[in-house]
Amino acid sequence: MAAGRTVDPTARFGGGPGPERRELLEAPVHWPDPAGLGARLSTLKGIGPVLEQNALEVGVSTVFDLLWRLPADYGEPPVRRTLDSLPEDEPAAVEVEVVDRRRVRPGRRAVVEAKVRDRGASMRAVWFNRPWVFDRIGPGDRLLLEGRLSGESFVVATHREAGAPEPSGPRPRYGSAGEVSPGRWASWSGEALQRAGLAPDPLPACTRTRLGLPGASAALVEAHRPRSSEAAWQARSRLAFEELFLHQVMILARGARERQAAGAALRLRGDPGLEAEWLEGLPFELTPGQEEVIGIFSEELGSDRPMRRLLMGEVGSGKTVLAAFAALRAYGSGAQAALMAPTEVLAEQHHATLTGLLGPAGIEPLLLTGSTGDPERELLFERLAEGEPTVVVGTHALLGERVEFARLGVAVVDEEHRFGVRQRTGLDGHDSGSPAVHRLHLSATPIPRTLALTAWGDLDLSELRDLPGGRRPVKTTLLDEGGREEAFDAVRREVAAGRQAFVVCPLVEESEAVQARAAEVEARRLAEGELAGLEVGLLHGRMTQQDKAGAMDRFLRGEVDVLVATTVIEVGIDVPNATVIVIEGAESFGLAQLHQLRGRVGRGDRPGRCYLVAGRPGGRAMERLSRLAGESDGFRVAELDLELRGEGELAGTRQHGLPRFRAASLPSDRELLFAARTELERLLGSGERIDGPLLGPSLTEALARFGPEGVTV
Ligand code: ADP
Ligand code: MG
Repeated sequence: MAAGRTVDPTARFGGGPGPERRELLEAPVHWPDPAGLGARLSTLKGIGPVLEQNALEVGVSTVFDLLWRLPADYGEPPVRRTLDSLPEDEPAAVEVEVVDRRRVRPGRRAVVEAKVRDRGASMRAVWFNRPWVFDRIGPGDRLLLEGRLSGESFVVATHREAGAPEPSGPRPRYGSAGEVSPGRWASWSGEALQRAGLAPDPLPACTRTRLGLPGASAALVEAHRPRSSEAAWQARSRLAFEELFLHQVMILARGARERQAAGAALRLRGDPGLEAEWLEGLPFELTPGQEEVIGIFSEELGSDRPMRRLLMGEVGSGKTVLAAFAALRAYGSGAQAALMAPTEVLAEQHHATLTGLLGPAGIEPLLLTGSTGDPERELLFERLAEGEPTVVVGTHALLGERVEFARLGVAVVDEEHRFGVRQRTGLDGHDSGSPAVHRLHLSATPIPRTLALTAWGDLDLSELRDLPGGRRPVKTTLLDEGGREEAFDAVRREVAAGRQAFVVCPLVEESEAVQARAAEVEARRLAEGELAGLEVGLLHGRMTQQDKAGAMDRFLRGEVDVLVATTVIEVGIDVPNATVIVIEGAESFGLAQLHQLRGRVGRGDRPGRCYLVAGRPGGRAMERLSRLAGESDGFRVAELDLELRGEGELAGTRQHGLPRFRAASLPSDRELLFAARTELERLLGSGERIDGPLLGPSLTEALARFGPEGVTV
């Protein structure tokens, strides 16, 4: 080797290590491509550079892409007709004899024309763009033509010898895309299918056997040229399953990679005596769901595999006490715990709650927000940097440059509940040399499992479904404008009985400023109208942190009877004395959001009531809202919400990189997604490694299809 030359390990792939190459190099196995599925379209018969370019413009660049561009639908086989009974422009099949034929326009846009006849009539049949047909048919041939009558001519889609075995199945219908017509897609798919037989199957053979799935190539053939419509849809399910399975492989591989990079975490064994005593001393019995989570935390925090868990539970389901347990575990192990909340109000609330919960264990949680005074702040920095075992609650201020944890064991991140939006916590302990941090995410919005698995799938999921303390679901009543009075009667009644209420203003899209102004106007109007004589407060997003905290405080202390608010109250506010919530313009909110809002009431011992006032109710809006009124399980509401919004909602997450699946469609294919996840977990549970011999080929294919991220965060 020439002096000074270094060997580029990617050289054998030709060229430098481009970004894709580098990704592929992460794949555990490489396989040859005997079927040539990675080849350009122009390697297929009948596709030249112009058509190839047309296909490229709609994202179809390889034979693989073409195979996975499935028919949009399937039609019945055409009805057999005679030439004298052909309806205009309807699919039909006719058996005819060729009288003669000619080339009308030679060249690329060729038309072959034939005079054909059957017993009763004769007619012109035309073939577009298939010059070779001229040589394949001749006078006297008996043909079965499929196509449709258009004007004076029968336009042929397909033909074969009469009496030849007839495909009995439904006819695939391809959607047009860009410059490429449905007919072209149909004939190209035929060409591509010639190669499908050699397509490697990325699903483990044992998975296929267990679930009774056909091989990839059989499924592709059946999806394009089905024997029956049932077989077609089964084949498509098989392909959808494959996509979802590979996507889960990619997501779990990403999680594994992230953990690997993070390194080992502190084994937090805790102080068993302290924990037992603390649990014993809690003012309530844990629900079975909470017990289970404590068990999981106990095990995961005690291991050096960093915990990455998303704990979802509705408002009031008792997540905080579980976060407190995790903090106690860190503290009892001589480490530090941090809890980060999205707003100052919430950080203060958490701080107060944790102070109450952890006090008996001798812990005094610290608080760090933008408003923490200088001397306190300095002291806090010092204590964290010195590694004092402690619990600190705060806002994003916890991520400040000067905050240095000497021994961070657990990071809890509260209320990251916007669908699909994930932030890196920054509390990961990625500094070289420091151990990985156990991380717990709390979500008060039950994320539908469909979305949780696709967008958050690399986290382990825990769901709290049981409401603690015998709490009853919030009774929800749907009213139209005319019924408003009923809602405000209820507000006045509750206030007279010493309790409090929220009024939520309609959601205005324009801007927070418009929204804030609307809330101000509404508060004033109510104070002079329906709620005259009551103490009415105001809370909206344009107020300063201080004003917000002040308004919340007055409400908490009972100095304000009714709080008129924008959706800022959606996030985790806990006022046990509030029993009624009136949501105006309810039709402008999503179901999950309404559910979240109504969870603000009935958090004490009195049951809560929610009035949804629909301002401009349309039939669909009312139906949506009445389904919410009848459903109290937040996880089901979330799934319902996703179903009603359908792909739109998932499209929102697509900005964050959720791939567009080719055969699968979410949320409707969620059962396949769950099945894929279950199967993958089963394999991993039985000791298979994601990059091992069994799943390695799946991972290779997943990386090739989705890239190493699949979802960007
Ligand atoms: P979340 O954070 O999930 O919204 P919290 O942890 O704030 O819910 O709990 C809501 C209320 O329920 C708190 O007042 C808490 O003390 C109480 N709580 C939590 N767990 C239980 C339980 N098992 N039994 C009775 N009350 C509970
Ligand atoms: Mg909470």
